[in-house]
Amino acid sequence: MAYQAEYIWIDGQKPSPMLRNKTKVVYDDSAPGVWGFDGSSTEQAPGDKSDCVLRPVFSCPDPIRGGNNILVMCEVLLNDMTPHETNTRAAAAKTAKKFAKQVPWFGIEQEYTMLTTEGRPLGFPKTGFPGPQGPYYCGVGAGRVVGRDIVEAHTQACIDAGLQISGTNAEVMPGQWEFQIGPLGTVDVGDHLWVARWLLNRIAEDYDVVISYDAKPEKGDWNGAGAHTNFSTLAMREDGGYKIIEKACIALGKKVELHVSNYGHDIESRLTGKHETAPYNKYSYGVSNRGASVRIPWQVPIDGKGYMEDRRPNANMDPYTVARLITDTCCSAL
Ligand code: ADP
Ligand code: MN
Ligand code: MN
Ligand code: MN
Repeated sequence: MAYQAEYIWIDGQKPSPMLRNKTKVVYDDSAPGVWGFDGSSTEQAPGDKSDCVLRPVFSCPDPIRGGNNILVMCEVLLNDMTPHETNTRAAAAKTAKKFAKQVPWFGIEQEYTMLTTEGRPLGFPKTGFPGPQGPYYCGVGAGRVVGRDIVEAHTQACIDAGLQISGTNAEVMPGQWEFQIGPLGTVDVGDHLWVARWLLNRIAEDYDVVISYDAKPEKGDWNGAGAHTNFSTLAMREDGGYKIIEKACIALGKKVELHVSNYGHDIESRLTGKHETAPYNKYSYGVSNRGASVRIPWQVPIDGKGYMEDRRPNANMDPYTVARLITDTCCSAL
């Protein structure tokens, strides 16, 4: 029976890439194969050499269309089947293979902001501002949270698609929410997160709501939007792992510039030292410390094992790049 395959890929838009998608109707039971698109319309090719290749890398049930329809996450290739310069997954896959024995796991906390089509955060009055931050984080009730219908629909859609979503919560600024994906491996966390982002944008479209991954959607005394990245290796999760976690924290401190410059556009506006952040150019780590660059959760020294949280990545980061860098920096130092 015919089914629809929604091909999804990451474009070349600057400063932060966005998702694109198009539908293929498949008239037999065959798997959705290699396809193509016009790269000159996605900032991925010049007009006279516009063809780019889509290669399926991850697929799952389509929870919106239901039935036997599917979503197909793709990587972008050039005509000679080598990775396009916007294809950050290819490099992540190489790094994942190199350090597979250490079994890296990632859990990413994706924060985002719901906006009206005029670009105003949901829950902000037309003029002026809502009351200061305080009651909104993990809030319940009208006047405290807004947009929950979208969150509910999105969470169920992720579950129905088989994505590894592990929770959601309302965030510190009105209209701001979070969902978490993981724990998953270096490449898988990116596949699941990009498809979860696509589902969020797609569902919010039905509500006329814009999903913003901007690092600092509102200037002033409002929290930015991050993507805290939780990380562990097999050795960190086993007895004696606390020592390994400390080693990894020290390793991250030796490559601050490399990491911060790849953690998402406009990171300087978000990592100011205020609003539960550490300054982007001053590295620190500590147990329980939400004002540090990297936090070791409180139960880790008690258990003697567990994971660490790199709090620096922006909401608009590319999970393939962030997971690749953390895997490379930490695993090669252990
Ligand atoms: P926070 O307290 O910082 O808000 P969350 O509960 O939002 O933390 O997110 C924690 C994330 O860490 C989840 O995505 C979870 O899957 C992930 N996680 C849990 N254990 C591990 C681990 N051993 N390695 C990597 N990630 C982990
Ligand atoms: Mn969280
Ligand atoms: Mn959060
Ligand atoms: Mn966190």
